[in-house]
This record gives sequence, structure tokens and C-alpha cells, in this order.
Amino acid sequence: MSAPVTTPLYVEVAVPLPIGHAFTYRVPSGEEGRARIGVRVLVPFGSRKITGLIVGLVDGSSTAGREIKAVHAFLDEEPYVTPRHLAFLTAAARECMAPLGEMLRAALPRGLPRREAPPVPRTETFFRLAGKEAAFAMTPKQDRVRATVAAAGEISVQDLSARIPGGAEVARRMVSKGMLAASTRERPVAATAGHLPDVSGEITPTPDQEAALARIGVSLASGKFAAFVLHGITGSGKTEVYLRAVEQVRQTGRQAVFLVPEIVLTPQLLGRVRSRFGDGVAVLHSGLSPAERASEWRRVRAGRVFLSIGARSAVFSPFPAPGLFIVDEEHDAAYKQEEGIRYQARDLAILRGKMEDAVVLLGSATPSAESIGMTQAGEATLLSLPERIGGRSLPEVSVVDLRGHAGMRGADRYFSPELEAAVEDTLSRGEKAMLFLNRRGYAPAITCLDCGETVRCVNCRVSLTFHQQHGALLCHYCDARTPPPEKCGCCGGHKLAQVGIGTERLVAWAARRWKGARVARLDSDVSRKRGAYGEILARMQSGDVDILVGTQMIAKGHDFPEVTLVGVLLADLSLSFPDFRSAERTFQILTQVAGRAGRGGRPGRVIVQTLSPDHFCVRSAARHDFDGFMKEELAAREALGYPPFGRMLLLRLWGPDTSRVIRAAEEVAAALSVPVAAAGISLLGPAPSPVSFVKRKHHFQILLKMPARFPVGAFFPDLLGPLRETVRKHGVRMEADVDPYNMMV
Ligand code: ADP
Ligand code: ZN
Repeated sequence: MSAPVTTPLYVEVAVPLPIGHAFTYRVPSGEEGRARIGVRVLVPFGSRKITGLIVGLVDGSSTAGREIKAVHAFLDEEPYVTPRHLAFLTAAARECMAPLGEMLRAALPRGLPRREAPPVPRTETFFRLAGKEAAFAMTPKQDRVRATVAAAGEISVQDLSARIPGGAEVARRMVSKGMLAASTRERPVAATAGHLPDVSGEITPTPDQEAALARIGVSLASGKFAAFVLHGITGSGKTEVYLRAVEQVRQTGRQAVFLVPEIVLTPQLLGRVRSRFGDGVAVLHSGLSPAERASEWRRVRAGRVFLSIGARSAVFSPFPAPGLFIVDEEHDAAYKQEEGIRYQARDLAILRGKMEDAVVLLGSATPSAESIGMTQAGEATLLSLPERIGGRSLPEVSVVDLRGHAGMRGADRYFSPELEAAVEDTLSRGEKAMLFLNRRGYAPAITCLDCGETVRCVNCRVSLTFHQQHGALLCHYCDARTPPPEKCGCCGGHKLAQVGIGTERLVAWAARRWKGARVARLDSDVSRKRGAYGEILARMQSGDVDILVGTQMIAKGHDFPEVTLVGVLLADLSLSFPDFRSAERTFQILTQVAGRAGRGGRPGRVIVQTLSPDHFCVRSAARHDFDGFMKEELAAREALGYPPFGRMLLLRLWGPDTSRVIRAAEEVAAALSVPVAAAGISLLGPAPSPVSFVKRKHHFQILLKMPARFPVGAFFPDLLGPLRETVRKHGVRMEADVDPYNMMV
């Protein structure tokens, strides 16, 4: 702030509460010099004192006649949030239709704490050989850990975990048995990069990688905003391009933000990033304690690191001069925050990239229709890596029509003879198989064979899933748990059947069918247990699992060379969703799962079982034909005005009393109808949500369909502000979701 400002006597303060405007406070005389944008203040609020952030400096002209309370204390000498960062957060709040205070709460560690957490000592544990290993009989896994430690001489927890998922836990247990030695010491704070062996020097970029990097490099050097969509199948060298682009931006003295869908699912990537950039990286993950998070935040804010890597909230990394935003797997729905304020991190990366004159790099094997739309509209440049490194071929995919199997009994109907024979064949060659089923639990429904009633959740009216692990019925909407009923609640009949199949039942089936095979399961029920995820990955890596059954979780970036067969049990689960993205999601999942087969030297094979073998997303996924799929998908989207050919705003309303929810929704729709029609927006509803009763609340929706690139953040916030009041008077809650991903509830 170099322009001379008349000494401010008043400040505008945003508070971390769901209130759409800032509050004015007086600056006590003598303290004018401390009133700066981005400084935290303690202010009286009702009968309490709360922490807020100065978002504006004003003279007293607008406060005439009102009694204005004084700032109680200034908490910072230097801005806690820089004016530049604040400008981004303010714009982001408008785009997401969220109050600025709520955006601050979502974007800053612990919201706006009164005190910054004290710095944490940055210690690190190292493992060494204890010199007594000959005295122990080791398991294969322990032996791998021992060999890795021996090869490194000394290895940190982080680096060991990066090389062997779950390895650190194993090593700790080995230390307690005297098989290994460990020591803990302070980590150097200096941002020295590359203290670990760096393999990048051994890699010569392929011509396609060179071409992509040259384009990115030109934009980075120009210091202007540019967006790129990097389309390359798994193993085509995208990550190598990201890491070199980070190196390029570092040369310009600016910093990079690297977003991944879920940080705990990327141990291999973290290992690569750490070994290349060492201490120059801040990793923001949900496992950090509040103090650690605040510490990392400070390192980023001070520019002591040049790269921050994390899940969607890392888009808020407070770098002084970010020059590059990388969004890996940019199509992943995990970038959409679905709780509290709803934001799409990829879209915010683009917004911030424009504000910061930075380069935005969106990478994927299956870019989203939105991103391909950007390249076609000339808003982004398409970069392609069409070949796998090393020229490994893509697996052969066969589609099996499951429709003829409906007459079979129990879980058998989900297993075609083709898939059964292929698993048999794979196991007999000593190779591994993955079976993908995007439904957890044992059976998704319990149905009475006498009257046909399905057991439903009392809170949500959806059918309950039987989970063997818990010996109970679980509701996947509200998590309510009930014991399995002995008789039908409707007719009293005793013939209750488990209908359908989930991952637990699939494991049971496979274990019964292949007696000698080691079968493991990986889904969110398993991974919720601490360390369980790393444990399964480690078992997979060391060849301790013959058949891995799992949900989408097994589809993500893992590289298990011994897996030569991938079976998709029921491709239709994602296809039957009443959602305009269902075909795209199915294509993405099928492509991603298929990419798990044949990662090593042996060719891979994929069998996709489906009730819709002729659907274009199934057919194009089987042919590895992204362009063909996208052409058809975009044509369908254009015909209906869906993204990228239009934008959407979903207003959700819910409350305990249906008639009041309906009345509130109708009032909102009536108030909106004239102004939105004038702006060329169509309004659909109000209508009950597809799942209309959740947690004992009735849910209704209003859908607004806007033209492409409609300035949502400029148009809606002022229009919706007063309507929130209307809704509140009815005892109903309303939430705005810009470009929604989940339209079920
Ligand atoms: P993606 O991110 O598209 O899955 P990666 O960047 O992870 O691809 O590359 C796949 C593998 O190929 C990695 O092991 C990587 O180290 C290696 N690799 C990448 N680029 C090259 C290259 N130009 N020459 C040799 N190996 C490479
Ligand atoms: Zn429920």
C-alpha cells in the first residue's frame, strides 16, 4: 500500500460468522498507525469479544448518527492476511456466494485465532540398522524394511513411508523389538532443497514433455495469466512435467501450489516431491495438528518454501507471489468442497491465477468437460502426452453383458463366467487381480420376500445397507446404525433377504470361490482405521494379496506391477445416478480402474461387466477413446445447456416441516423469477430433492440454469441476501451451491 491514505478513524471488520457484511469499528486515537488491511483485531460483538479481520479503512462519513464501538485490541504488527490474499478471498467468497467471514474460516488455519499457535519443534525420526538383525527371523515385510534401511544407511520416517507405504509403522515395531535402531533430532529449518538423492537428472524429457514444458515456460516467463490442460494417460509423464514446471517457476522467484484430490492417497507422489525439493516443500494434509498446520502456514506466508502441496484447501496457500497452480487429476469431484461453504478448488485456482497473473496447469488422464470446454473456447491451451513412458501398451478391455444373468441366485449373478475364468487364469499364473465395485458394505438392501418391503432408515427413508463388519444396518446418508431386524416391520414375515452386493459380500464370495487365494478389501470402511490404508498398500506392494477388492479407492494412482487383471463388477452403479455428470464419471472411473492393469512388464486385461453394454461411455472407455467420448458428451451437454455450455446454481432448502419448506421455496422462486428471467436465466422448481427426506428434514431444490460464463458472483449475492431472511422466518435453511456436483440431496 504505497498510496497515501488519509488517517483512517474507522475500520471495516469481517468476523468469522455466517453474516454477509462487515462491521464498522472506531480506531482508538493514537492507534491509527496500526489499522491496516489484513490485521487481526479483537472487537466487542454483542456481549462478547471476538476476533475479526480488517478488510477496509474508512473515514467517518458513513457512520454519522450511529454509535460506533471501538476496536478493543490490534493483534498483529504486520498483516495476518496480505491485502492481495484478502482480495482473492473476497472474490472467492462472492463466487461461492458465501459470507466473507465464512470464507476466512474455511481458508485460514483454525479460522481467525486470537493467538497464533506457537511454532512446533521440527523434529524427525531416523532409522538405522541395530547390527543385531541376524538374531531375528523376519517376515517378508520386515525384511524389505530392513533392506531399505540398510541401503540408505539412515532413513527418515517420511522417506521410508514414501518408499514403502506403511513402512514406518513396521519399522517402529521393529525398533521396539530391537531389530532396528532409531534416533530423533531437530530438522534443519533452512529451506535447503535436494538433500535426498534426486533422480530427475537421470530423466531426459520426451519430445512431448519438452513441448509441453516449453509452452508452460514461455507463459511463466511472461508473468501473465495462462491456463493449460495437460491431457495424458496414467504413466505418460504428467507428474514429471509438474515437477519441472515447479522448477521453472522457482527460477522466476515465485512459488507453486500443487493440488491433489486426496493427500493420504498419494504416498508415492509425496516421496517424489520430497526427494526432489526436500525442505522447500510444505505439505498440508489433514493429519497435521493445529500447531503444525499453523507452522506450515507461516512458512508458506513468509515464502520460506517455494512449493505447497495439499488437497483442495491448499488453493488458499498464502504465498507472497504464487506463479503456478497445478491441479492434478483436475476432473476429480474431490475438488468440490461439499460441507460448510461449497467451493470448487480447480475453479478457485483459475480465479486466483487470473488475479495473480499466474499459470494454471490442469492435468488429467480424463480431463473434465469443463476443462475441454475451456480449450475449445480458447481460454486454455491443450497439451497432450499421448504415450505411456516406455511405450507400454494399454490393457485390452472386454465388455460383458450382465443382462442375461438376472436369473442366477445370490451373488452369483454378479459374476459372469468370463470374469470367473479370467480370475482363475490370473491366479494360476501367480499374477494378481483387482475387483472393483463401487459400493461398500455387504448388501445394499434387506427386502421382505413376503410383502416386498425394504428396510429403510427412519431418519432418511432410504434403504439401509447391511455391513457385516458392524453386524448392523447402516444408513449411508445419516450414519444411523440399527441391528438387523428379525422380521419384516410391515407384514411381520420372517423371510428377509439380503439383496444386491457390496464389497464385503464380494470378498466373501471370492474367498469361497478361490480357497487358497489371499483376498483383501480396500474401501472407506477399511481405511477409516488408522494405518489400515498404508497396511493394505504395503501388502499389495509386497505381493501378499492375490485379489484386491475395493471401491474407487483402489482406482487412484497406485502402481502395482503384478496386477494383470482388473474386473469391474457393475459399471452401472455410477451410470444410473440421476445426474448430468453420470456418464462422464463412469467414463473416468472405468478409465482409471483399467489403468491399474498391466503396469509391469506383463500385458494387462480388463473385464467390464455391465447392464448397459451399448452406452457410449462404456463403449468409448473400452476403446480407450477419450476424444470420441468427449465429443459425444459435449454434444449432449450443449443440447441441454449443461456445463461448459451453461452454469448452474442449486438452491437447497430444508427443514422439519414440509409445508413450511414448500412455502419458503415458493417465495424464493417467486422473488427470483422476474430478475432471473430478465438476465436470461431459467428457473426450475421448486421440487423435492431426489433424496427428499434426510436426517428427518424435508429437502427441496430450486435449480437456476445460466448462460456460460455468467458472472454469478456479481449477480446473485445481493439478490439472495434478503431472501435468506425470508427463509429464516419460516424456520427453513437455505444453501446456495454454485455449479453443483451432488444434486441428490
Ligand atoms: P503420470 O503422472 O502421467 O502418471 P509420471 O510422471 O509419474 O506419469 O511418469 C511415469 C513414470 O515414468 C515415472 O516412474 C517417471 O519417473 C517416469 N518418467 C517420466 N518421464 C520420464 C522420461 N522422460 N524418461 C524416463 N522416465 C520417465
Ligand atoms: Zn439415515
